[in-house]
Amino acid sequence: MEKFIVSARKYRPATFKQVVGQEAITSTLQNAIKNNHLAQAFLFTGPRGVGKTTCARILAKTINCENLTENLEPCDKCESCTSFNNNASFNIHELDAASNNSVDDIRNLVDQVRIPPQVGKYKVYIIDEVHMLSQAAFNAFLKTLEEPPAYAKFILATTEKHKILPTILSRCQIFDFKRIRVEDIAAHLDYVAKNEGVDAEVEALHIIAQKADGALRDALSTFDQIVSYSGDTLTYKNVIENLNILDYEYYFKVTDALLNGNFSDLLLIFNEIMENGFDGQHFITGLTEHLRNLLVIKDPATLQLLLASPSLKEHYKEQSEQIEVPVLFRAIDICNKFDLSYKTSNNKQLHVEIALMQLAQVNTDQAVQVVKKAVSAAPKTVNEPKKIYGKEADKEIPKDEEIKTPEVSQEIKKKEPAVKKEENGRKIKNISIRDGLNALKQKSDDTKEAAEEPITNEFDQSRLIEVWRNFTEVYNATAPSFAHALAKYKPVLKDNFIIEFKVDNILIAKDKINVSAMLEYFKKELNNNQIKLAPVVADKTTHKTAYTDREKFEEMAKKYPDLADLKEQLNLELDF
Ligand SMILES: [Zn+2]
Repeated sequence: MEKFIVSARKYRPATFKQVVGQEAITSTLQNAIKNNHLAQAFLFTGPRGVGKTTCARILAKTINCENLTENLEPCDKCESCTSFNNNASFNIHELDAASNNSVDDIRNLVDQVRIPPQVGKYKVYIIDEVHMLSQAAFNAFLKTLEEPPAYAKFILATTEKHKILPTILSRCQIFDFKRIRVEDIAAHLDYVAKNEGVDAEVEALHIIAQKADGALRDALSTFDQIVSYSGDTLTYKNVIENLNILDYEYYFKVTDALLNGNFSDLLLIFNEIMENGFDGQHFITGLTEHLRNLLVIKDPATLQLLLASPSLKEHYKEQSEQIEVPVLFRAIDICNKFDLSYKTSNNKQLHVEIALMQLAQVNTDQAVQVVKKAVSAAPKTVNEPKKIYGKEADKEIPKDEEIKTPEVSQEIKKKEPAVKKEENGRKIKNISIRDGLNALKQKSDDTKEAAEEPITNEFDQSRLIEVWRNFTEVYNATAPSFAHALAKYKPVLKDNFIIEFKVDNILIAKDKINVSAMLEYFKKELNNNQIKLAPVVADKTTHKTAYTDREKFEEMAKKYPDLADLKEQLNLELDF
């Protein structure tokens, strides 16, 4: 421990320029100083560790400096600046309202406000965590805030703006501090590392920055913590071990296995992860995030949402090129479902393994195939591959038709069992949002023209349920929330081919695109073009949701009578 540094303090910015990731705020403040339009009171709000108090101190120092620089920064040389730098200035008063929130604390502060500054122009009062002030303290403070002397400036800082009284808010100029971007934090860490002679890997700094969730102070203290442990070299490995982060290499491997449909590999990798002491949910959420990153990197428009170091981005890009969007959607959907139900499962390991089983099939999943086909059947767009002539053309193997050599055909069949399924008879329609739109369009065209020839194939309730189930399963890949909402209730076949179906709210029934797609699907599958849909909004009053803790307990006790017995046996009282 020869080298102990508290970077958050040592590298606390002393000028506006040094503040990391809050350019909008620092430049507004500097403009106000320049134009002499400084408010009397400020409210700095935003998450913890993003520079609120730091900016407050810089502002206090800057407005008291006797020799402002051209860039409107404190000179760091004059008497005022030096006393600020030595924490010896009489012009700055800081009150941490988290621990000093009584009326007396505020009265002390208010008494000081009456005394004008001896040196410099302004007395600056910084009240940190101002939302913690008691009601009485707030009221005592309000009077001062209403009529402050010209030399007094107040900077109130809070992480919880919504707790501040409107009377206070209306008297302050409000500055919303943002979470600091991962890139900015990583760049600052890099600067600190170079200054401290620490040889740090880019990946390592990025991971620290990511974990800090926008708070530079947290990032710096993590940095210190790991450096004090690992010395002058900071590697990615050090960091993930210290922060207990699962190496993202695992997710790349899992995704590879998933693409190859290799279930045994998936099981083995997962087993290794468990042996390293990570829990299943950690793994599932991490994998979801990984898949999300693969999705994000596919589109230049969403690329900025991917927070990773350049080399890692490259790695993501490579893998994302091997995986199609519908596959990603489906895989993310599976992960998400298993993540949500993780807490309630009795056998956590098995729970994750079942998820892996489904993921192993994702590339050949029926629903995914439907969407893939719909995508490939889409009208030609600019992205269509260029036609290849000459030598290259020979290499093009027609996938669905005319496969000449039997070996090749077998191989292809093996890789795409979904194609085989279709040959087996059950025909899957391409249902997509586009179909819904087309159906809608057709419908309006139809009204102008003569009515179509009626086809009235008979079908019964059980056949309806079957088709309904198929639709909700297949359509899950196109519009999961719509499909999910439908799957909750069973439809009822009424006279004249009217299908009554329940929905939780009217918005689902009014979802024209999806409802039309559904109607088209039914008409085709049931071979009946006279089918009509009749949505009914489900009666919610039958299922009352438990709101209070007591209601929840009673609900639970109804379900598990043992619970009530236990309460009796232990002679427990409900104190809610
Ligand atoms: Zn100065």
